Amino acid sequence: MSKKERKRAMVVMKFGGTSVRDVDAVRRVVEIVGREKRPRVVVVSALAGVTDGLLDIAGQVESGEGTAAQDAVRGLRRRHEEMAPLVRDPEQKAALLAEFDDRFDELEAIVHALAVVEEVSPRSRDTIVSFGELTSSRIVAAALEDAGIPSRAVDPRTVLVTNGEHGSAQPDLEATDARLLEKVKPLLDQDIVPVLGGFVGASTAGLTTTLGRGGSDYSAALFGAGLGAEEIQIWTDVDGMLTADPRMVPGTRVVPHLSFDEAAELAYFGAKVLHPSTILPAVRRDIPVRILNSHRPEAPGTRITRSPAPGVAGPTAIACKRGQTRLDIASTRMLEAYGFLRRVFEVFERYRTSIDVVTTSEVSVSVTIDDRRALDAIVADLSEFSEVSSEDGMAIVCAVGDGLRRDPSLATRMLGALEGLPLVMVSQGGSRQNITAVVRDGDTASAMERLHRRFFETGDSTPASA
Ligand code: ADP
Ligand code: ASP
Ligand code: MG
Repeated sequence: MSKKERKRAMVVMKFGGTSVRDVDAVRRVVEIVGREKRPRVVVVSALAGVTDGLLDIAGQVESGEGTAAQDAVRGLRRRHEEMAPLVRDPEQKAALLAEFDDRFDELEAIVHALAVVEEVSPRSRDTIVSFGELTSSRIVAAALEDAGIPSRAVDPRTVLVTNGEHGSAQPDLEATDARLLEKVKPLLDQDIVPVLGGFVGASTAGLTTTLGRGGSDYSAALFGAGLGAEEIQIWTDVDGMLTADPRMVPGTRVVPHLSFDEAAELAYFGAKVLHPSTILPAVRRDIPVRILNSHRPEAPGTRITRSPAPGVAGPTAIACKRGQTRLDIASTRMLEAYGFLRRVFEVFERYRTSIDVVTTSEVSVSVTIDDRRALDAIVADLSEFSEVSSEDGMAIVCAVGDGLRRDPSLATRMLGALEGLPLVMVSQGGSRQNITAVVRDGDTASAMERLHRRFFETGDSTPASA
């Protein structure tokens, strides 16, 4: 890398909702951003709980509770106004408060209009929910400026270009990369810190879209990839990727290093600390991702890179995904199994429903799905050539790790740890990066605790050092 290129190396720093929850939290963000000497782009979530609040408002409008919805908008207005002490300069403070006024007046008007028809389309829901990130990014930019760090809020709708799938929009990488160069890069070149709300974008038709819950991580990774970042930092409220969800399992510990594959798998199977799509853009440009704790910035966190951690035996972490539905599909033409699987999978493809776990025998197949929206139609189509039964209330528990490849006894040990719990399905992938069991939802906590005890509290697995 030439000297000039080294000078331009930049980082993306993403702060989640709890990292911007109140005045003290944003002050910590300002300190962390101030300490980073490389050019940086800051990506922020809505203040903690605000996205939930906005979705509740949409729900209230739909169920005819217009007055309650307006009360809730007033509550959010006050919550944001409480952030004003972050700005000491009276003129800047007045400008920020005036902007809040405009924004929340607009939200009130939208809620009022929708309350008349008692209907919120996916498009309107995205407009409502985008207020969280649009406002938080403005607050963080103002707080940085106040601390003497030149900064500017950039509307993510002018940068993140997506398709029109409201609520779970897909990014247009090429268009977004071009916008990053046009709207964000010039600020970096002038030593100004651009601050963008995550999660929010706009379709090519200019309509506000969102990437799906937890999508700010994905925005950060998309921006990092587009700008050729040296590192994508995900600042959150835990010390990194932990060996299991700390809300379910006691005694978890930090995993210092993960490969992209491991991180993607853990995020997909429920490790909420990373949005499942976060790793894709990082892989595209081979950019390391770090998970860091904004409450303990000195902690080393988790580093995620292409290469697997050397010499780790056993799983790296465990995760679970609840609320799954299992379908058992048996061929009605027992001896003509040829082509059966193709027909089965075609049905799921037709309804754009992805399958998580599959187990098969010659004439039957069991699958799990978590998107039930098309379940009736799927069952009807499958019934044309098979006998189908479905059951809700399932959970996937899985052990993930590159080290699983090196450890042939792992499946046995995993099943041993789960002994006595009814296992609905068991699957070990060809790449052997994860071993998955499907259990009844009520058994999830017990399954996770047993697995954690077996693999992380008995010296059975040692995460590599960073
Ligand atoms: P943010 O608001 O910063 O995006 P999230 O709430 O989306 O934060 O993600 C952080 C939370 O993810 C943690 O507080 C933790 O409860 C949960 N979590 C679930 N599984 C894991 C895991 N394996 N490692 C770390 N955190 C996890
Ligand atoms: N604010 C959005 C959410 O709560 C996006 C994010 O925080 O990542 O889902
Ligand atoms: Mg998150």
